[in-house]
Amino acid sequence: MSKNYDVIIIGAGPAGYVAAIRCAQLGMKTACIDDWLDKEGEPSPGGTCLNAGCIPSKALLESSELFERMQKDIGGHGINVKGLELDVAAMVDSKDRIVGDLTGGIIALFRAHGIEWIPGHGQLLPDRQVRVTPHKGSRHTISAEHVILATGSRPVQIDAAPLVNDRIVDSEGALNWTDVPARVGIIGAGVIGLELGSVWQRLGASVTLLEAQDVFLAIADQQIAKAALKMFQKQGLDIRLGALVKSTKVIKSGVQLKYTDAEGEHSLTVDRLIVAVGRSPHTQDIATAEADLLLDEGGFIHVDDKCCTNLPCVYAIGDAVRGPMLAHKGSEEGIAVAEQIAGQNSEVNYAAIASVIYTKPELAWVGQTEESLRQAGVDYHSGVFPFTASGRARAMRETGGMVKVLSDTGSDRVLGVHILGVHASELIGQAVLAMEFDASSEDIARTIFAHPTLSEALHEAALAVDNRALHIARSRRS
Ligand code: FAD
Ligand code: NAD
Repeated sequence: MSKNYDVIIIGAGPAGYVAAIRCAQLGMKTACIDDWLDKEGEPSPGGTCLNAGCIPSKALLESSELFERMQKDIGGHGINVKGLELDVAAMVDSKDRIVGDLTGGIIALFRAHGIEWIPGHGQLLPDRQVRVTPHKGSRHTISAEHVILATGSRPVQIDAAPLVNDRIVDSEGALNWTDVPARVGIIGAGVIGLELGSVWQRLGASVTLLEAQDVFLAIADQQIAKAALKMFQKQGLDIRLGALVKSTKVIKSGVQLKYTDAEGEHSLTVDRLIVAVGRSPHTQDIATAEADLLLDEGGFIHVDDKCCTNLPCVYAIGDAVRGPMLAHKGSEEGIAVAEQIAGQNSEVNYAAIASVIYTKPELAWVGQTEESLRQAGVDYHSGVFPFTASGRARAMRETGGMVKVLSDTGSDRVLGVHILGVHASELIGQAVLAMEFDASSEDIARTIFAHPTLSEALHEAALAVDNRALHIARSRRS
């Protein structure tokens, strides 16, 4: 029986919509199904990233940082601002307009590439058939030679803190408050907790983060994480480690939490609470039992290193499969799968995917941490350069943090780069490029960086690997 499409993609987040564009570029007849509805109940492609993740959070981080700068830091530049006012509703509106422009942009890209966009729910049936329940119209079945599953992830919910209106919210709810609560509690001091905690703290809330683990940001290099923790605490974020929330209760004046830590049981009252304890794959109803799609423990779709599922010509990408839950990782998997379907030999380099936390200062890293290298028994050298010694950072009055380069003792190949500092999210791209090309620290040390730039700190950290950083009194590698 002939199929309706070459490729059907379920999910139009950064994994699915990028896969759709690449498939169309390669000449395949492509359809993309997505069930996201915006605040007005209109279909809105772009998935979590555009609608409730990367973009809206970065819009609010940018706006709130501007407000805080104008309020607190601008005096140092000799600029006095009087009559500064905050309009949170307008800030949230501005964020919504940015989201609307970008999701509208995806619809335009689909049109331009001849991709059929089907707003509605998709479910995999046997033999690469897909049952479509459209937002408008009646349920029907379509089929394709290849199916790509890109259904993303959803916030983890915990029994100790069920969501309650706008009082106990997940990350999406916390992007839409139109006033500033006096006291915000956050369960989880991970990426979302720190980013959204920063937004509301900059806008005037007093923010307390309760983190179950004893170690702060266990996934990050611990020298960087410890330095970041000190800076966040200095900014006023109250980060309590080893704190396990036992119960929450909505009361007239807010939300009452009970939690335990090494010292015993405590209670805390906040006006509003954000639950940010991780995300889980959105795969519950992705396929009928007859389709026989294999899921891993935790509900991730089982895939091999080429994103092939257990079913022939059915692939899965993005947050719904193993690996970091990051937009750029999902997009690269989408490109690789589209190219594999077209007969090309394309793959994802999972060793060179950057992680970024968009706080102030930002944390960004790629590759191994000192902890993971020690655990793997790898001999390495470390070169560190602080932003206090960077002329550009001083000119910007943004001297917090450092750059650290880790390289293999034998080959000098760069194994990891870790940055804490202003614009770390942009600087890390240079390190990703270096690792993608298998650079040594000497390659970076021999590269000429423009002066005065923050990038010179990466250059100096690479020089520090060989004890020859220029702008610190004693450059010692470890
Ligand atoms: P998603 O973006 O979740 O998209 C999946 C889409 O599929 C959704 O539209 C969903 O409605 C749809 N769908 C699911 N099931 C079906 C079905 N059966 N039928 C039809 N449609 C379906 N990552 C970064 O890299 N950088 C950041 O700065 C960043 N910030 C973030 C901030 C927040 C607050 C959050 C929550 C996440 C953030 N992330 C960030 C993570 C990023 O959003 C995800 O990694 C990314 O969106 C995953 O892309 P995806 O395409 O796999 O899934
Ligand atoms: P996370 O895994 O980064 O952090 C969750 C934190 O909650 C962890 O530190 C965990 O120890 C803690 N925790 C778990 N259960 C707890 C409990 N019961 N009580 C107290 N603490 C508890 O997850 P997240 O912050 O929810 O973000 C989810 C994912 O979204 C991230 O893993 C990331 O991949 C993605 N994301 C990325 C960005 C970015 O790239 N800048 C931003 C936001 C989200």
